[in-house]
Amino acid sequence: MRPKLIIVGGGASALMLASEIDTKKYEVSLFESNKTLGRKFLVAGDGGLNLTHSEIASEFIKRYTPSDFLKEAFQFFSNHDLINWFHHNGIETFVGSSKRVFPKKGIKPIEVLKMFSKKIENNKVNVFFEHELIDFNGQGEFIFKNQEQEKVVKSDIVVFCLGGGAWPITGSKGNYLHMFQKHNIQTEFFQASNCAYHVNWPSQFIQKHHGAMLKNCQLRCGEAMHLGEVVLTHFGIEGSGIYPLSPAIRKQLKEFSLAQVFIDLKPQLSADEIKKRINVKASKNLSASLNKQLKLTPAQIAMMKAHLTKDDFLNIDKLSLLIKNFPIQIISAGPIDEAISTVGGISLNAIDESYALKNLKNHYVIGEMLDYDAPTGGYLLQSCFSMAKFLAQTLNLKAHI
Ligand SMILES: Cc1cc2nc3c(=O)[nH]c(=O)nc-3n(C[C@H](O)[C@H](O)[C@H](O)COP(=O)(O)OP(=O)(O)OC[C@H]3O[C@@H](n4cnc5c(N)ncnc54)[C@H](O)[C@@H]3O)c2cc1C
Repeated sequence: MRPKLIIVGGGASALMLASEIDTKKYEVSLFESNKTLGRKFLVAGDGGLNLTHSEIASEFIKRYTPSDFLKEAFQFFSNHDLINWFHHNGIETFVGSSKRVFPKKGIKPIEVLKMFSKKIENNKVNVFFEHELIDFNGQGEFIFKNQEQEKVVKSDIVVFCLGGGAWPITGSKGNYLHMFQKHNIQTEFFQASNCAYHVNWPSQFIQKHHGAMLKNCQLRCGEAMHLGEVVLTHFGIEGSGIYPLSPAIRKQLKEFSLAQVFIDLKPQLSADEIKKRINVKASKNLSASLNKQLKLTPAQIAMMKAHLTKDDFLNIDKLSLLIKNFPIQIISAGPIDEAISTVGGISLNAIDESYALKNLKNHYVIGEMLDYDAPTGGYLLQSCFSMAKFLAQTLNLKAHI
């Protein structure tokens, strides 16, 4: 008789695991609380399904905080392996100008999801929808809620793929920590990452410039730096330029209840070069000069004006330094419900190198429900796919309990 293996959750990591687990060796069932698989996977595809990033492996792994827990899995199934895997399964990809990897134009996220569903069906995994895990006893009994009925499922092995706490509307509610705490498994509360950050902009400035985009700027928080773009909003600031600073911002918020971020609006120019380029005489006034000679946008110029006294704005030395180092104070992170991902969940101290819980035999945890951070850019999905492929291989090789 094959040992029973259940996968709980039906998101990115479960999709890969259920596609790759050897069902000749295990009798596999997948339980998902929604009526369909991969709801967050589809939401992720709304702005273009960014499957992974094309940068070299040695740089790639550094994007994770921390990264040690993922090294072996990523080495086993890297971004290039993932791209080949998709190609092999009929999903051609392309590398965008940002070096991010997407399904080839014309391939919709739903088609990628259908590819997974087909593979899971062909792999003869039994899929149960509307089954929400509500408890487990640590000895192979799992209680699911299915249409107001409680149902006990017995299994030799379980892989939890319950996701993080962002966008709970997709089913990834992060409401399961108590089940693990009961078994003395260390957990961390969920916090938003890759999210909007709250800034108290001067009201007149933000009324006028809400929605303005700052492109090609370098953002810094402590030691962390990132080149990208951000959007200014009534709430504060968001966008791919600030998301990678999330771990540093969270650290400062925790220590000081405030985080200091600096924006370099002209990263390709030194302050001296900026000073040289500002030539008020050649323009109508200083603002016109900043716009013409430095290509600063009206929103960027208004940002300076709102920050400086009139005298300081007219002081070219002070102004050029500010263009290189514009300070903003982050008061808090935006709501978890609107964040792209979360940190928190099952502590990395609770698992071993093959993602098994140290104090519960044959219980595994993968995906965003583990407490790690990664920026947007395809790093989140890649980590889920790497962990799932690596665990499938580990279990396929083990094939007995
Ligand atoms: C708006 C948005 C855009 C994103 N864009 C990208 C992107 O472009 N690239 C990228 O790399 N990442 C992106 N992400 C992040 C990425 O989607 C997630 O990191 C990834 O889906 C996590 O996969 P997972 O398998 O860990 O969990 P999920 O995909 O969250 O899946 C968890 C599943 O478990 C189910 N579940 C939860 N609790 C229970 C329970 N008790 N019983 C049964 N089932 C349960 C849920 O219904 C869900 O289906 C985006 C996220 C969001 C919100």
